[in-house]
Amino acid sequence: MTTTENLKFIHSQLPAKVKLVAVSKTKSVDQIMEAYQTGQRLFGENKVQELIGKWQQLPKDIEWHYIGHLQSNKVKQIVPFVSFIHGVDSYKLLATINKEAEKCNHVIPVLLEFHIAEEESKFGLSLEEAEQILSMPEIESLKNITISGVMGMATFTDDQNMIKSEFELLQHIFQSLKNRFFSNCEQFREISMGMSDDYPIAVAAGSTIVRIGSKIFGSR
Ligand SMILES: *Cc1c(COP(=O)(O)O)cnc(C)c1O
Repeated sequence: MTTTENLKFIHSQLPAKVKLVAVSKTKSVDQIMEAYQTGQRLFGENKVQELIGKWQQLPKDIEWHYIGHLQSNKVKQIVPFVSFIHGVDSYKLLATINKEAEKCNHVIPVLLEFHIAEEESKFGLSLEEAEQILSMPEIESLKNITISGVMGMATFTDDQNMIKSEFELLQHIFQSLKNRFFSNCEQFREISMGMSDDYPIAVAAGSTIVRIGSKIFGSR
């Protein structure tokens, strides 16, 4: 199957309101252009240098989603052009993104990353940690970010029920933060979950953004 055929198939499975981020990490500019020619405009990368190189070479109407773990000292390199940052899991990073976005007069949508998988990971918040961050008075002053929702990754497993319950947990976290902190904030509306092997389960659990790489471009 070609990239074009893969994209067509995935779009046929996704409800119209679910956004597809084509995860192009490790893939060439030519492969990205093939997807671009079919109309795909949202692409995801997880390495700062690779993202900068591709942004420089590719059409400027691409919306780049940063989906990796971002170090504070690299924020300023991507903030001038990135459309969306998934996977923010500390106040420090929120504040750094805000500061750099202010310098270039941008407002960057960000998603809070949650640790929903069974696997050990040093990344991702718990609901309690997120509530603590969102309760800080300083949050109000971050005018150059928009906290737009949540992001998470399920355990790498064949156990479909386990994946389903992890995605449902993320949906529950989203709803509880929405009720407590964002009930009047229309922009807090995204749930970024679902990758090549589990996106149908994620969509059934309420995903609004899926991040799909190998099912589009082939294995890495
Ligand atoms: C690589 C990656 C994806 C896409 O993974 P596939 O299994 O190739 O679809 C999605 N999200 C994140 C955060 C990733 O790093």
